[in-house]
Amino acid sequence: MVNITTISWTDFTINFGGGCKKVSEGCDNCYSERGDRRWGRDFTVVRRRPQAFADMFALSRKIGDGHAKVFLNSMTDTFHPFYDDDYIAELLTVAALTPNLTYQILTKRYSRLRTFLTDACRCKGGHQPGVHLKSKMADIARKYARKRPDLDNISHHVYFDVPYPLPNVWFGVSAETQYWADRRIPSLLSTPAAVRFVSAEPLLGPIHLNMCNYWAPPHMEGFPGAHNPLTGEWWPAVGNAEEEYANRVTDQPRIDWVIVGGESGFGDSYRPMDLTWARDVVAQCQEAGTAVFVKQLGTAQAQRLGLADFKGEKWGQWPSDLDDLRIRQFPTPLLNR
Ligand code: SF4
Repeated sequence: MVNITTISWTDFTINFGGGCKKVSEGCDNCYSERGDRRWGRDFTVVRRRPQAFADMFALSRKIGDGHAKVFLNSMTDTFHPFYDDDYIAELLTVAALTPNLTYQILTKRYSRLRTFLTDACRCKGGHQPGVHLKSKMADIARKYARKRPDLDNISHHVYFDVPYPLPNVWFGVSAETQYWADRRIPSLLSTPAAVRFVSAEPLLGPIHLNMCNYWAPPHMEGFPGAHNPLTGEWWPAVGNAEEEYANRVTDQPRIDWVIVGGESGFGDSYRPMDLTWARDVVAQCQEAGTAVFVKQLGTAQAQRLGLADFKGEKWGQWPSDLDDLRIRQFPTPLLNR
């Protein structure tokens, strides 16, 4: 089922599964779990919904010459171990065959995201990253030949014509605290992706996205240094400012897009986001020239400000002293840079 969504940074949601397992504090008040509880389902029993692939083709046909963004798997995590590699490869195959849709995939399972998309050669044949995955996608594509009758050879198209990383699939990780930013962002930066994004929602504390000490470019692996994931700059830590500056590199992977927002919910199922945390993230992005999207203030701030909208998402209700947070930008995909 394709859903028109209220999530302001996308146009539609499609879920190819359901259920999940909590992995960090950001999951504490998971809205998918709340939904399952309401329907009497066991949230921890993860399930597939293969008809999602037909939904992707149907939406692509409906959009026609237009373009739309699709948040894939808003109710589960694409990289949960229940979804095997073939299933995720099928999702990417269908994404490759529906290029008028931009797919946004967000995960907290950063390690599998990186391993899966890096797709290191396993046959000892010295293949480039992504070759095995594209080969698998080319095989899977055959079963969808009837969906794309305009293609003479659908496998050939997927293997040779579609770039890798796929230009219409954006990959993101959640970073609700500094602890998780420090772990998930380096992994994201090592993941081949047309657009890399970070969702700092629910934001549970101050985070510095512009400094990450755990990541070094491959040719400096193991060498201590400092990396700014927002600008792609990296400095070796040699203790001499001049030498550090002279040896800095400026073309390293970077974050293309940051979403920030406070938690929304009912009863006691929401935690407050301090506005200074959100302002700080916006300032870091603006200084680096990174696209930033302030989604919502969250329920605690909405209540404090007496807003009718319980999520604090509607700008029209915000007081004027929040003008600096009225910012909703989108990234420029790799191919358009
Ligand atoms: S990873 Fe996402 S879907 Fe899974 S429990 Fe956490 S918040 Fe919910």
